[in-house]
Amino acid sequence: MSEEDDAIVVQLADPPNCPRCGEPGPVSAQFSHSWKNASGEKVPGIREVMLCPVCNRDEPAADGLLAFLAVHETLEPSELETFHNLSAAWVAVARARQVDQQQLDDEYERSRNGEL
Ligand SMILES: [Zn+2]
Repeated sequence: MSEEDDAIVVQLADPPNCPRCGEPGPVSAQFSHSWKNASGEKVPGIREVMLCPVCNRDEPAADGLLAFLAVHETLEPSELETFHNLSAAWVAVARARQVDQQQLDDEYERSRNGEL
């Protein structure tokens, strides 16, 4: 099963503050993310990403969603598809970045342990 098939939950109501700068973000998303531990077992996990107007500035996918949310305080049914497309693009970018970081951390740990 591909991770791309996993459910992504986008939360618009009362999302948590940004873990980096503490700004309240307009939206957060949770997605399942699993990785393999040192013995090769799959470890399931949930990751959460915040859309932060400060930290995510200048990221095209984040900017697109931020700009949309800035002019749409409430979502009309006719706008749901646009919102869905913008949030999916943002989550894809945020998710890829988090996975990269996970791999970097993992490789760092392994190199420290003399496994690489
Ligand atoms: Zn931030």
